[in-house]
Amino acid sequence: MRMYDIIMKKRCGQALNEAEIRFFVEGFTNGEIPDYQASALLMAIYFQKMDETETALLTHYMAHSGDMADLSSIPGVKVDKHSTGGVGDKTSLIIGPIVAACGVPVAKMSGRGLGHTGGTIDKLESIPGLATAIEPERFCQIVRDTGLAIIGQTGNIAPADKKLYALRDVTATVDNLSLIASSIMSKKLAAGSDAILLDVKTGSGAFMKTLEESIALALAMVSIGEKTGRKTAALITDMDTPLGRAIGNSLEVIEAVEILRGAGPDDLRQVCLELASNMLFLAGQGHMEKCRVLAADALSSGRAFEKLKDMVRAQGGDAGVLEDTARFKQAAVRHSVAARKNGYITHMDTEKIGAVSVALGAGRVKKEDEIDYSAGLVLTYKTGDYIEAGASLSVFHTNRAGSLTEAEDMFLKALTIEDTAPGEAPFIYARVTAEGVSRY
Ligand code: URA
Repeated sequence: MRMYDIIMKKRCGQALNEAEIRFFVEGFTNGEIPDYQASALLMAIYFQKMDETETALLTHYMAHSGDMADLSSIPGVKVDKHSTGGVGDKTSLIIGPIVAACGVPVAKMSGRGLGHTGGTIDKLESIPGLATAIEPERFCQIVRDTGLAIIGQTGNIAPADKKLYALRDVTATVDNLSLIASSIMSKKLAAGSDAILLDVKTGSGAFMKTLEESIALALAMVSIGEKTGRKTAALITDMDTPLGRAIGNSLEVIEAVEILRGAGPDDLRQVCLELASNMLFLAGQGHMEKCRVLAADALSSGRAFEKLKDMVRAQGGDAGVLEDTARFKQAAVRHSVAARKNGYITHMDTEKIGAVSVALGAGRVKKEDEIDYSAGLVLTYKTGDYIEAGASLSVFHTNRAGSLTEAEDMFLKALTIEDTAPGEAPFIYARVTAEGVSRY
């Protein structure tokens, strides 16, 4: 078999067969197929697309390109959650504890932030002492003991995706439905849980900017999950405005703690409760209404907050900072951004707001960049709010005083302020299962 023929076949719009997809994934992972041929195939896939069978095969071979995690020593149905990425998305820090407090084990591997989006592992590492690089046996032990562990992806989970993603990033081939679906699902299948809930974000801060694209991606991923024997569902949630008010690592942990202590922003609480209820449903805890009651009770009783502290201690972290969040390291500069005119905020360009947090030091531009856990911003107002000139729109936290002017300029450009109030947008748009799409 020759890579040249595989590229030509896809270039001509034909479907690749199993042997060809396997040849490509294995050859690329072990270094026999060079980047230039892989790039050519990615571009051919980008333009000619892949059908459902090809996408499922690509996912299968990417998932099996490295280790397949074995969670069988953990009793019960293990349920995982994956977000397609967003700004202010700290849901894993809230949902994991809620679900674990209901007795369903959560053994989660999460990622780091890249570009304008944040990552759960960076947020967790803002807690002093907490380790996220944990060996598989210890990981399973923590889940058996506390019901919950969140660690970084181990080196050899879906290495094909690691290599392919890096190549897609620099060859303008990221935003293709089959490539995104296979990238996400290969990691989820290799991570070993029995059930998977996908949080597919939609809007200006998401990968998929329209509801239709987001639903199509969710359908593709649900189909892959179900065909490989994992109970899989997706919620389509809003990312046309940042989730909650805090953006930046320790600022987001603090906001997650506020929710777990019964306060915090309503959009974040509602999205978390619905995601957690759907995870409980996938884990077989009863019908949806019962799962909603279980999730709400775990949150309001404080059991979920106790669970997060148990996990932090088990992973070597200082759970005391969660009791007294003023102990988190503070940024040297706090800067309030004043509104320039009266009006309603009718739109927030959420990707740009994510970029503001990166400029303040909260994220990375390149994988190897250091991040500043204390940096970020807290929004005072969001889409739909009326503001008066001079009101504080947001407080920036940074150790990079020299970046403030540029960050403030970017932030103000990300907001659209008009005389008429916008229509209300839902926090959750739809639920996608193997049976189809139901709108909220
Ligand atoms: N997240 C992933 O892991 N892969 C993609 O392709 C897009 C988002």
